[in-house]
Amino acid sequence: MDMELTLDLWGVENPEEELEEVRQQAITCTACRLAETRTNVVFGEGNPRAPLVLVGEGPGEHEDATGRPFVGRAGALLDQALRENGLSRKHVYICNVIKCRASVVENGRVRNRPPYADEISACHPWLDKQLTIIQPLVIVCLGAPAANTLIHKNFKMTQERGIWYPCNYARYAMATLHPAYILRQEGESYQQNYRLLVQDIASARQKVIEAKKEPKTTLL
Ligand code: URA
Repeated sequence: MDMELTLDLWGVENPEEELEEVRQQAITCTACRLAETRTNVVFGEGNPRAPLVLVGEGPGEHEDATGRPFVGRAGALLDQALRENGLSRKHVYICNVIKCRASVVENGRVRNRPPYADEISACHPWLDKQLTIIQPLVIVCLGAPAANTLIHKNFKMTQERGIWYPCNYARYAMATLHPAYILRQEGESYQQNYRLLVQDIASARQKVIEAKKEPKTTLL
């Protein structure tokens, strides 16, 4: 693995074990109504020592079915954007703001819906524990719910996408377009938005490299 993108001798001693302990607690969580309809808690996965963490909105149908984050079409697009930057899932850790699928039944069909504020709050202790264990240098929020939770509550994607902010859980955080949003665009708009995702991941990769060279003066 590219040494510039690993985070050796950093953070907690055994993040794998600590994350697994928290995951074991999370899989029985009943803190909100989503516990009643979920198939699996989608805790998160990837490299617990990664300097770069990607935080999405919440599991969809495929994630709920498998218990793994970003395994549907949005995940395939994310993997493609990572690959264009020479990255794979082993270089990052991926999780979501909420760990259980939020859905509604419409005309007899189950479809995803954005998480409600009380669901995000109920799930926050899990995200908090995860990010506290991993201590990433850089966080990329995929979509507005993650940006509102981790950057600031009035985050506006159209105005603030791609801008670096300080964050409680990492030295730097930024938000980019959610891959599922990009998949809903067509033609030129799809291409333009996908290029922005690739460009923002490139910026995050560069930020990791720069941040690793900065003196480590604080806990983060
Ligand atoms: N969308 C998300 O925000 N997270 C996933 O895990 C999958 C799709």
